[in-house]
This record gives sequence, C-alpha cells and structure tokens, in this order.
Amino acid sequence: MDQGRRQKGAPSTGALLAKSVVAGAIVVVAIFAVFVLLIDAEQRETANAHIDDTVDRYGQLTAWSAGNWVEDRILETELIAKIYSLRHGTGQAFDLFESETRPEYMSFWYVADAATGKFRVWPDTTDLTGFDPRTRPWYQAAVEQGKAIITDPYISWRGEVNYSVAVPIFRDGEVVAVVGSDYMLDYVAEQITGSLPGHLGELFVIDAKGQVIAHSDEDKVFESIRDIYGDGLAISGEIQRVPSAGGDRLVSFRKIEGLPGTEWYMGISIDPRVAYKDVREFRMYAALATLIAMIVMIAVLGVVVDRTLAAPLVRARKQAEVANVAKSEFLANMSHEIRTPMNGVLGMAEVLGQTELDGRQTEYVDTIQRSGTALLGLINDILDYSKFEAGKMEFDKAPFNLRTMIDDVAQLLAGPAREKGVEVIVGYPPSLPSWVIGDVGRIRQVVTNLCGNAIKFTESGYVLLNVTGDCRGDHFDVRIDVTDTGIGIPEQQLERIFDEFTQAESSTTRRFGGTGLGLAISRRLAKAMGGQITALSTVGSGSTFTIHLPMKLADKTPEQTVPHLSSLEGLRVLGIDDLRVNRAILSEQFKFWKAELDLAESGADGLKRMAEAAAEGQPFDLVILDLQMPEMDGIEVLRRLREDPAIADTPVVIFSSIDRDDVARRAREFGVAEFLTKPARSEALYRAALAAVPADRRKAPIAPVATVTPVPAPANASESTADNDDNSNRVQLLLAEDNQVNRMVIASMLQNYNCDIAFACDGREAVELFKSQEFDVVLMDVSMPEMDGVEATAAIRAFEDERGGEQVPVIALTAHAMTGDRERFLASGMTDYLSKPIRHADLVAAIDAAVEIQGSLRKAG
Ligand code: ADP
Repeated sequence: MDQGRRQKGAPSTGALLAKSVVAGAIVVVAIFAVFVLLIDAEQRETANAHIDDTVDRYGQLTAWSAGNWVEDRILETELIAKIYSLRHGTGQAFDLFESETRPEYMSFWYVADAATGKFRVWPDTTDLTGFDPRTRPWYQAAVEQGKAIITDPYISWRGEVNYSVAVPIFRDGEVVAVVGSDYMLDYVAEQITGSLPGHLGELFVIDAKGQVIAHSDEDKVFESIRDIYGDGLAISGEIQRVPSAGGDRLVSFRKIEGLPGTEWYMGISIDPRVAYKDVREFRMYAALATLIAMIVMIAVLGVVVDRTLAAPLVRARKQAEVANVAKSEFLANMSHEIRTPMNGVLGMAEVLGQTELDGRQTEYVDTIQRSGTALLGLINDILDYSKFEAGKMEFDKAPFNLRTMIDDVAQLLAGPAREKGVEVIVGYPPSLPSWVIGDVGRIRQVVTNLCGNAIKFTESGYVLLNVTGDCRGDHFDVRIDVTDTGIGIPEQQLERIFDEFTQAESSTTRRFGGTGLGLAISRRLAKAMGGQITALSTVGSGSTFTIHLPMKLADKTPEQTVPHLSSLEGLRVLGIDDLRVNRAILSEQFKFWKAELDLAESGADGLKRMAEAAAEGQPFDLVILDLQMPEMDGIEVLRRLREDPAIADTPVVIFSSIDRDDVARRAREFGVAEFLTKPARSEALYRAALAAVPADRRKAPIAPVATVTPVPAPANASESTADNDDNSNRVQLLLAEDNQVNRMVIASMLQNYNCDIAFACDGREAVELFKSQEFDVVLMDVSMPEMDGVEATAAIRAFEDERGGEQVPVIALTAHAMTGDRERFLASGMTDYLSKPIRHADLVAAIDAAVEIQGSLRKAG
C-alpha cells in the first residue's frame, strides 16, 4: 500500500530527464556567460583603445599636416609679397606675376594698390571695372592685422572652393599694397581628408562655425556638421557617439594650429560597427560555442540520466505496478472468499429466522445475524480502506433522489435507535431540490456511518439528520448535519478520530464496539467526491458531524417515470448461481415472497432455461445472476442474454460476492441497474428485485414493501428463559453482563437448570434490578461500562446493609486471570469467581454452591 503512495509522489522519468537536462543547460550557459562576459569586456576595452589611438594619431597627424600646408601657403604668398615689395614702384613690379610660374594649386594671384585702388589679377580673365579691392574683407583684414591673413573658404566665380591668403606691404609705416593668392581647398582635401585605414571612418575639415570645408565626399562641403550628426555634437576633442544617416558614428575634433585670422578643425568620424567588429564576431562565436556545448551536454546527460536513474525507476515502477495488481487481485479474491461463506451463514440464519422458532431459538438466530453483520461491516471497512490504498476506489455518477436516500437511512436506523430510546429526526426543507447526480451507494454509506455513530454514542435524546444547502445554477452545495445528544468528543480528539483505527477513548471500544475505520473511510470518500466532513462537539451534550458535498442537480428524474412492482408475488424468477448453498438461500427467500423461482447451476444452463421459457411464451420476469462462475461467468451470461432478442429485455439483478467498482461498471454497461454484494440482507434483495422489474412487465398485486419484509423481531433481553409456572422452587438469577453474546451463551448453558434469569447490561442496571427484585444468586461480569462489577457489588452490599438480612452470593465472571484478582474480587464483597471462557460444569457447580450456602443461611436465619 505504501508503495502505491510513493509511486504517486515519485517524479516520472520524463520529468526527471527534463529536470536534469534543464539544470545541466543552466550550468553550461552560466559558465559560458561568465567566460563570455569577461572576454567581451576585454575585447571592448581593446576596441576602445584602438578608437582612442586612431583618433589621437590620425587627428594629430592630419591636423599638423593641414596646418603645415596652409602655413606653407602663407609663407609662399609672403615670399611673393616680399618680391613685389622690393620691386614696387619699378618697371619690373609685376614681372613675377606675369611669368606664369604660378603653382597649380593656386587659382589666382593678385595685387591691390592702396593709393589708387587699382587691382591686378593673374591670370587676367576677369573684367574688374568698378571693382575696388579696398572694400573687400581680405584687404581690410590684412591691413587691420598688419600681417598675412587667411580667409574663410568660399566658392569662387569659377566654381572652385578657395581660400585666400593676403599679405600687406608697408612703406614707412603706410600700406602701399596688398598681395594675395587664392588657393584651391580641394588640394588640401586631397592631401589630408579621405578614408581611415580599414574602412574605419573618414577625416574632414570644418571651420569655426561647424561648416564642412573639406571632405572626400564633395556633397558634404559647406554642409553644417550639425545637419550631418545632429545638434548634440560639440566641436571638442571628446569622442562623441552621435546619430547619422547610416547609423551611429563616433566623432571627435582636433584644432589645426597656426592659422592666422581663422580657426579650422580636423574632424574624425569612426563607424562603430567596424570598430567593434571583432567584439561582435566574438559574441557570435561565443553563442555558437554555448549552443554546441549545450547540445553535447544534453546528449551526454540524457544518456547518463537515462542509464543511471530513469531506467531503474521505470523498472521499479513496473515491478510496483505488478505488485499492485497482484495485491488488488488478492483483495478481490479475499473479498470473494470471505463473502461466499458469509452469505451462507447470514442467508441461512435469515432463512432459519423465517421458520417456526421458539423464543430462545429466535434469540440465537438473531445473535448469529448480529455477529455476522458486525463481521461483514468490518470486512467492508477493511476492503474500502484497501481499495483507497490501492487507488482502486471508483465513483459512479448517476441521478438519484437524495431526499429518499436520507429518509431510507433514517428509517433503517430508526428501529435500533428506538430500542435505545433515541429518536431519529430528518430535516429536509421542501424548497430544496431532491434529484442530484452522484454515487448514491457511497453517499449513503457516509451518511449511514455518521448517523450510526450518532446513535451508537447517544444514550437518550435524539439524532437529527438535517439537510441544507445552496443552489446556484445546476450546482447544489449540499450540507448534511448529523447532530446527536450523545456523549460528545473531547476537543483534542476531534481531529484524531478521523485517523484510521482511532477512537476517542480506547475504553469505549469495548462498550460501543467498532474499529475506528468508519470516520476515516467516510472522510476519504467525501474528499474523493470533492467534499469534506467536519465535526463539532461538546463533551456531555453531543456532537455535530457535517458533510459538505458539491453536487450537480439532475435535470430529469428517470426512476419516477417507470412505475415499479410493489410485490414479488407470482413473479417468474430465475436464479443462476453455481453454489448450492446460495441457490438454497435464494429458493427459500423467493418462496417466502411467493415468487416462482427456478434455479440454474451455470450460465449456460441459465441461458438455456430462459430461451426455453421464452419459446413457451412464459419468459422469466427477473434473473438473479451470480458473477463468478466456472466456464461462463456472469458478465458473459449478460452479454449473450442481451444479444438474444427473445430474452434481451429480461431485468437482471446481479447478486455476487465480487465487490469491485470496475465489474459493477461493466454490469451497468449491460443495462443492469441493481448490483448487490453478498451477503445482503433479504430486505435488500427484496428491494432490488422490486426495483429491477418494471410494473408493466407483469401484473402483480400491489402491496406495501414494509409488510412483506421478513425481519425477525429481536427477543426481549430480560425475558425469562423458562416457564414461570413453578416460581417458588426456581433459583432466581441476576446476570450482569454487557456483552450480548456472553449473555446468550450463559443463558443457553442454564437452559436446563431450574432457574429464572434476569439480565442487566451494565453494573448500574444490575444494582437497579437488584433493588427491585429478590434474587438468590448474582452472576457479575467484572468489566462493564457505566459501572463495573466491583463497584456494582459494593453498591449491592451497601444496599443490603441498609436493608438488613443476609447477603446474596455474587459470582464474579472475568476475563482477567491475573494472580491477586481473586483476592481483590473477594475483598469487594464477591463470594466466588469464575474465569472466562466459562465451562458449563464450573458454572453449574458455582451456582449450586452459592444456592446451598444461601439455603443454609436462610435456614439459619
Ligand atoms: P468506530 O468504528 O470506532 O465507531 P469511527 O471512525 O466511526 O470508528 O469513529 C471513531 C471514534 O470517534 C469513535 O470510536 C468514537 O470515539 C468517536 N465518535 C464518532 N462519532 C461520534 C459521536 N457521534 N459521538 C461521540 N463520539 C463519536
């Protein structure tokens, strides 16, 4: 049983495999992640250093060479100006300019005369009429600075991007002329701008306003760098990450030194995708390596886990399953083996009860039935418990009438309760629905158990079965309260009583009987049906057990639409059972109910008889079918029966000692509504037979159910065991014994003894009886509830002391066979001692001796 439980909790092999693979994958990824992060950081650092280095090196170098170039052009112009200055005023003043040795990167050179405003330009292609050079910015800047200046770049009338160098010429502190050259900026651009090695980016030149003045891409010249790289860009030596049309760029600037009259900067723009290409590549390879490592790891781990863990687990599970099946089969077989003889015992006792019996015989039969029923209850409890443990408990879902079921339980238990003076009351408001869907048998079992307990533990008062609940849509949350006015349960025991084999007080076992399994099974059943059982109690004033069950309302009431018979009289019934004793019981029962019973010893025999009867035009009205039979079992009989059109619609009651839900389900599939397990009380068989046959099947006289049910009335416990005609000579015996079977045993031992016996069920009752009647001898059991034998004897002796007269002998009956007990009992006022099991001869001898003593005392008195 434990194995079954462990099995349910154990992980499946698939889950185990998945877990280990996921765990392994996490470890691999974690290790790789740490490794990748470290290397990645290093790679980034290297890439950053490379960028810094490139910016520094190329920035400095190109800024320096651009500065040099421009400075050279200033020197060049200054040299020209020097030559001109020396020749100023002479006839060769313009020889140099006219010689046409102007370098190719120079667009024009020119001289502006300060005094006249005369302007001469080489090559002389321009019409300069009306042009006064003294109004031009380059002229004014050169004069103002008093030294060579360079201008901002501009587009010449020839369409070239130029900048000018202007040098003033002084004589006696006065400007006499300004010599200038226009240089093509393209030339600078060609020298210093262009791409960085490795397509890392490009170099360009901007002026102080942020205007691109030299760029390998001509379209960018005269564009603002803010238009290219956004407004956030500052002209500084920092490396800035800025957006641009083709993706982010890293941009930095270096000032070009030594430019008089203007500020230019070298710009370096780097493409980070190229700069960090290595880092990216590394990441890609790292991811690839991680993936490969993971795949390899999953494969290796999968094989290892499968070989070392999963495979043994699967083997163990298979073994456990085989063991479980064997166990369930053993249980089913045991159930069958026990139920078969039990059916013999109980069935025959019931049959016996229906014969002519005298009072004593009736009591014996009753005792057999009670003991048998108790044993059956115990077997059923243990089987239910085992079913749960084996995971074999199954539940039926069918519409049934809850109100009728509750009434039935109350009715069934009301009889024994009334004998105790306990009233059973049912509360079920008419406004609540009656038809619900569920397993009626299991729900009845739970309610019967709680209600039976309530009656068992209640001495006087009532037991209330109160049904309430909430209806929402087709949901009906049923609440059944079972309230009693009994002994109650101590607070600390309230939860424990739901444990298996636990009773509130172990001393109650003997007094009330029971195994301590009932509540445990009831709670499990309720839970398995989606509900719960709770308990509230006050010691001394009673308990309330509450069943909560979520149920669905049944939308139709199928049973109501089919009227059923109310008597079996004249019904043609076929009993099919391979065991003779079972057939004998069936025969007696149905004879008693005035039905016509035919019997078959096997399935084949049964089918044959049915076919014959149908052919004769007198088909059977009902078949009582056993399941476990050699050659052809009951299910097979059912199958063939349903296949033969002549007999297919014959109602069937299964009456079998197999108590398995799966079998019951199969039987239901063949249209069998009534499934009874052996042994069943004749009343149950009777009801099942009535329920199975539709009223229109055969016209039968209508009679109420209860009047036909042959349940023998229990004999009165305090009835005399023999005739009372010669009271004077008869020994008057008081037997105080709580166990009914023991009472019966002793009474039967004394049936030929000349005595009248009065029975008391406990010490208190014995004392009461003793006070109200004259007795010659008292037989006193020692262990009894309420008041034990020792206390009762003491009370009797106290009463006798008060009343006066001689003491009545009290013979102790005890199962306690400890040394010293005899002395203890005698000291309490008992006169003799018999130990259980009591032998007939000892009992008679002890009573004889006591009577003799009593007689001699009387005589002496
Ligand atoms: P048992 O077969 O002993 O009755 P149960 O599991 O049905 O087993 O009950 C366990 C114990 O719970 C009982 O022995 C009794 O001590 C206590 N008990 C159950 N119902 C009641 C009740 N209505 N009043 C008092 N005690 C109860």
